[in-house]
Amino acid sequence: MDKRGFPTSLPEFQRVFSDDAACARYLELVRWPDGFTCPKCGHAEEPYRFPTRSSVVLRCRKCKANTSLTAGTVMQSSHTPLSVWFWGAYLMTTETPGQSAVQFQRQLGLSRYETAFQILHKLRAGMVRPDRDAIGGESYPVGVDECLVGGETHGEGRGKHHKSIVIGAVEVRPRAEDGKNHKRRVYAGRLRLRVVPDRSAEALTTFVKDNVAVGNIIRTDAWTGYPTLSKAGYRHDSLTLGGDPDKAEAHLPMIHLVFSNLKTWIKGTHHGRIEPKHLQAHLNEYVFRFNRRFYPMTAFHSVLGIASRVVPPTYAQLYSGEWEHAA
Ligand SMILES: [Zn+2]
Repeated sequence: MDKRGFPTSLPEFQRVFSDDAACARYLELVRWPDGFTCPKCGHAEEPYRFPTRSSVVLRCRKCKANTSLTAGTVMQSSHTPLSVWFWGAYLMTTETPGQSAVQFQRQLGLSRYETAFQILHKLRAGMVRPDRDAIGGESYPVGVDECLVGGETHGEGRGKHHKSIVIGAVEVRPRAEDGKNHKRRVYAGRLRLRVVPDRSAEALTTFVKDNVAVGNIIRTDAWTGYPTLSKAGYRHDSLTLGGDPDKAEAHLPMIHLVFSNLKTWIKGTHHGRIEPKHLQAHLNEYVFRFNRRFYPMTAFHSVLGIASRVVPPTYAQLYSGEWEHAA
């Protein structure tokens, strides 16, 4: 359990969300941190509960209106137990990404493949929403580069291949001096990835404009597609790398690391083959996990479609399954 109150290991997750009732209590806590209030009449009092009902319903003691805990989430109207949804969301947001429906079915112990497929599909929908806010900051550069991913090449030269061109931008943030002996003085902040049709100046500049706040320092290699960045209002810091790995490491450390991990992921979970038409969706998933790797609770809530609270429940609240309702 980390300090934000989210389980960080499978055994911990299992303890906290041990059964459907525990998951229901969690949904209730997220929605009404200060205790149940009837959405219909505003009455605040412990509601009636129906533990035997399959869908989790709370009933107001005053107006007798029923409120479903799963309304407005991906679990709405589903016959799949809450605990299965919670497990699925946990695996999806924290485990090695890119699970197939077959793996998912096995891990969740589901009898039907179709159930696994549907759960996976619904949880994914919460991940492929593109991040719309611009990345970048005043005090650090954004590394931008492109790479080739996908289909095997058969000895074609540059510009003639069956791979897709992916362009990426990542914040290169300075580490706080915390006394720890880190290997690098910088770390990767937020990431954006896009499949582009070619390496033209237009495609690259459009990507940067869509994703990075104007005025930021953009660090690139000296590829000819980039000169228009200065005209677009960015402070452009380019360097001819000439295939020198030391130079590349010093100038564009984070984006190269991202590309390397991305290729490993594609090779590992997708055997190197992702159909070009599905590539952007997979990149969005990758970016979703990457950008929330320090915020597992946010990722978990996003895929389940649960509105995030400002203050997450504490470990004690989660673990005991009981919490104090404000008077
Ligand atoms: Zn009411």
